[in-house]
Amino acid sequence: MPAYTLIAPAKINLYLEIIGDRPDGFHELAMILQSIELADHIDIRSASTESISVYCDHPQVPTDKSNLAYRAAALMAAEFPQAFSKYGGVDITIKKNIPVAAGLAGGSTNAAAVLVGIDLLWQLGLTQSELAQLGATLGSDIPFCVAGGTVIATGRGEQLSPLPSLDTIYIVLGKYRSLEVSTAWAYKTYRQQFSDTYIRDTQDLLARANAVHSGAIVKAILNQDALEIAHQLHNDLERVVLPEYPQVMEQRAIFAQQAGVLGTMMSGSGPTVFALLPTLQQAEAAKQQIRKAIPNEDLELLVTRTITHGIRVTS
Ligand code: ATP
Repeated sequence: MPAYTLIAPAKINLYLEIIGDRPDGFHELAMILQSIELADHIDIRSASTESISVYCDHPQVPTDKSNLAYRAAALMAAEFPQAFSKYGGVDITIKKNIPVAAGLAGGSTNAAAVLVGIDLLWQLGLTQSELAQLGATLGSDIPFCVAGGTVIATGRGEQLSPLPSLDTIYIVLGKYRSLEVSTAWAYKTYRQQFSDTYIRDTQDLLARANAVHSGAIVKAILNQDALEIAHQLHNDLERVVLPEYPQVMEQRAIFAQQAGVLGTMMSGSGPTVFALLPTLQQAEAAKQQIRKAIPNEDLELLVTRTITHGIRVTS
């Protein structure tokens, strides 16, 4: 049976601004998304039966129809029924390395890998943009996860403008294993608390979203200025998540104090906090110091780095 193994990288948000409401109920966002080396491994193979099966080694990840990887396979089966009946079902095995419910797009990148894998398995020859369009129907982060790199994302996060590849920046990530933040909760709470600051006029809304293209962080990225990128890190969702989770607020403060740290921010809806550092050696040293300051083993600490790609096929 033909099979593919894919690398599905996580992302961090270098920038996340909530601009206003959209008629579809989502928020109008301006984000800068960055792929990181931390990745899940997805094995996808044709099954002898006509069913979709998901296996995962992580106890917090569902393997039923609610798994985003399952939903991506079901979407492909519905979109390409002839290929589905010709090639049969698919078995999807997820080796989870990305912390779950962490603001790192773990589920979205798994779904993106399944779209890419099934395209190969069923010899559909879809373009990256066709795969991204299919992905957008399942989740706003999926189009980014397909292509990856360093990207400006507007709309609800699905309208992408790639930026030039960033030189490597090293990252220390920390996530409390027992803490999960629901993305839906974070956005809902933000709306409850801050909707009076939302831009209402449609033209003004688009102008604000477009302004990110010439904003300070984009200039810093174009100049490969890691220190200035770190100074311009921004995430509006910190305003609701950090007060609710003092443990994460404290973690963020400790990350910021470490030698060599250029800047610190929460990723997406959290609770992952990351710090940017210029070298691998400094990142490893900062991780050790953070572990000394927070000996609680519930805090998972990882060193990773920025990368320039999304889904990759390894075999
Ligand atoms: P995002 O940054 O896109 O908001 P996240 O990193 O915060 O995503 P996920 O890791 O995608 O969050 O998990 C969110 C929830 O989705 C989990 O609680 C989990 O039960 C469910 N889930 C469904 N499919 C997957 C998957 N393939 N991997 C991880 N979680 C999944």
